[in-house]
Amino acid sequence: RSRARRARKETSHTTLDDVAGIESAKREITEIIEFLKSPERFRRLGAVMPKGILLVGPPGTGKTLLARAIAGEADVPFFSISASEFIEMFVGVGAARVRDMFQTARKEAPALIFIDELDAIGRSRGTGLGGGHDEREQTLNQILTEMDGFEEHESILVLAATNRPDVLDSALLRPGRFDRKITLDRPHKEAREAILAVHVRKVPLAEDVNLSDIAARTIGFSGADLKNLVNEAALTAVRSNKDKVDAQCFDEARDRIILGEERDAKLTP
Ligand code: ATP
Repeated sequence: RSRARRARKETSHTTLDDVAGIESAKREITEIIEFLKSPERFRRLGAVMPKGILLVGPPGTGKTLLARAIAGEADVPFFSISASEFIEMFVGVGAARVRDMFQTARKEAPALIFIDELDAIGRSRGTGLGGGHDEREQTLNQILTEMDGFEEHESILVLAATNRPDVLDSALLRPGRFDRKITLDRPHKEAREAILAVHVRKVPLAEDVNLSDIAARTIGFSGADLKNLVNEAALTAVRSNKDKVDAQCFDEARDRIILGEERDAKLTP
């Protein structure tokens, strides 16, 4: 009767074209994709890829998106779990789910495993009230065991996302585990413009829309916020019976999002 689902397996149709504004990470990502596509090439040359890569960045900066794009580009199965689902589960369930997921992924290798919100279970141990035997810790131990248990040549890559790398148990960061890090920052102006361009691909824009202007006026927006902005602007156009999304729609959408955030901020102490 647990809320948590089994690991999801999907075929990702996301590509690198869907990801914008992260040029600095792209070279590393290209190598990872090459590895998943033809692991034997790396093996022949004795090149070893990391087993685990940590995706670090604030909420909405595209960590999940990037993981999907890697699987999509390499055309390998994408297994995902969210670590926060393991909290409040019966003892043993989380560990069993992790074991299952790795087992299936190994059968289908090359494959990509994605663990979202790793910090939910990956906080340093021995600080909780559970005396070191709680569900969280068992699940974490299982992840470590699994990562130690497969060999580099098995072509399984584990990506884990977190916005709190500072609280992670150091055991997770040891060589052979999550020993590589890709950092995603909140997008700067050019990056915001590039992200907007991705999200307006299917949106009919009026002549007066200038993405560079919009980018200049959305300081602090994450990729997810920008996606939301485009959608809100489109909804505004629908409401006002416009057949194109114009600059005014973007202005109104932006104001609504910013006001909404201010209201939320007041409500949280
Ligand atoms: P969280 O930490 O909240 O899980 P996340 O970093 O995993 O966030 P995503 O779920 O990948 O963020 O981002 C949400 C959505 O925002 C994506 O599906 C995508 O549509 C959009 N988005 C975020 N970053 C980018 C980007 N760099 N380029 C294009 N779209 C982006």
